[in-house]
Amino acid sequence: MTQVNFTSEHNSLAAARQFDQADELAGFRAEFTFPKNSEGEPLLYFAGHSLGLMPNGAREMLNAECDAWGKYAVKGHFEADHPWARSHTFVADSLARIAGAKPGEVVAMNTLTVNLHLMLVSFYRPTRNRYKILIEKNAFPSDQYAVDSQARFHGFDPGDAIVELQPEPGRLAMTDQDVLEQIEAVGDELALVMLGNCNYLSGQCFDMRAITELGHRMGAMVGFNLAHGAGNILLDLHDDNADFAVWCCYKFLNAGPGGIAAAFVHERHHGRGDIPRFEGWWGTKEQDRFKMRRRIDPIPTAEAWAMSNPPIFQMSALRPSLELFDAATMPRLREKSVKLTSYLEWLLKENAGDFVEVMTPPHSPEKQTRGCTLSLRFRKDPRGMLQVLSEKGAVTDFREPDIIRLAPIPLYNSFEDVYRFSEIVAGFCDSV
Ligand SMILES: *Cc1c(COP(=O)(O)O)cnc(C)c1O
Repeated sequence: MTQVNFTSEHNSLAAARQFDQADELAGFRAEFTFPKNSEGEPLLYFAGHSLGLMPNGAREMLNAECDAWGKYAVKGHFEADHPWARSHTFVADSLARIAGAKPGEVVAMNTLTVNLHLMLVSFYRPTRNRYKILIEKNAFPSDQYAVDSQARFHGFDPGDAIVELQPEPGRLAMTDQDVLEQIEAVGDELALVMLGNCNYLSGQCFDMRAITELGHRMGAMVGFNLAHGAGNILLDLHDDNADFAVWCCYKFLNAGPGGIAAAFVHERHHGRGDIPRFEGWWGTKEQDRFKMRRRIDPIPTAEAWAMSNPPIFQMSALRPSLELFDAATMPRLREKSVKLTSYLEWLLKENAGDFVEVMTPPHSPEKQTRGCTLSLRFRKDPRGMLQVLSEKGAVTDFREPDIIRLAPIPLYNSFEDVYRFSEIVAGFCDSV
């Protein structure tokens, strides 16, 4: 059972260090490069939900690809140590493990919003009477723009076609019951449920299985944007029965800036002729790809959605991180994550409780209600808080008008990091 209850004896740097000593994943921290302050000390990096840190292995991997380019030039497509023509296949299995997908259900390609559009091409097929898309009220703007533009593309008015889940006033998160009731209320007009999981602003984790089941019962497709889920929460995409999912790999999966993204297509949709798709030559069977045939012969997996020969440097930059995920494994990372984030929450309540409101749902032992990220609302002077955090070397991020988000990442953040962060917050609270 993961420890989520703490007592006053845990409210010290010494206690935080003891947690680190007992942490079997603590060694992974040394595999990453931390940004440093002017004294050369690592910053308190809590922005891994925005851009994951660089695994030390990434530089070596990129250098190796440059070496291969120099040595093989065009022959590198087939003769490099990791032949470029197959580069997307070297990351697929690890990504599938992280996503709880079967091999063949995940393909690495493009960037996130592009993949979302490609999935919408296949899975948002509105009719005159069934055309509505349900998303979160606080969906990531790119997702809002994507669904709005898809609705317009099909001749619908987004103001009518896009329905948003409404949390109670003053809240960011919703109860599972509310979510399900609001989905059900759309009725026969529902064509697609597309939710960000976890939600990027509240950190709320939705019940993917219940939502998918309900969406399907209502005759809709169900897809997820897992930008804040992949590498953060335990995922079970295949068994949860989602139709599709998309995610970027530069947040929790440390692929580096502009890194490669991924898509999941449930195997029941593979090889179906009645699902339209935008196609390119990377979706045709590998053995025929360079025969330059006139007609595509689609790969009977999620790879049918791949279009172009992949960006090799981005693919390679992702591999070192995936090796770390395979070594650490998601269940162990999740277990540490629950303890690390619970500790942070407890310290903030204990030492700055009058000042900080946690907008993210509380941890539940029965189901995943959140990932590692906490969204904090500061009752006084959020900008002053932000300023002090940055002066003291804590990297977080700010969303208008008053939300500070931070993500203790189990792969590289320590209990000491979390304790030091709470000290800065408590110090600021005492001073205002
Ligand atoms: C980070 C994020 C994006 C960003 O999209 P890109 O196409 O990678 O720029 C989109 N949607 C969600 C939910 C995100 O968290």
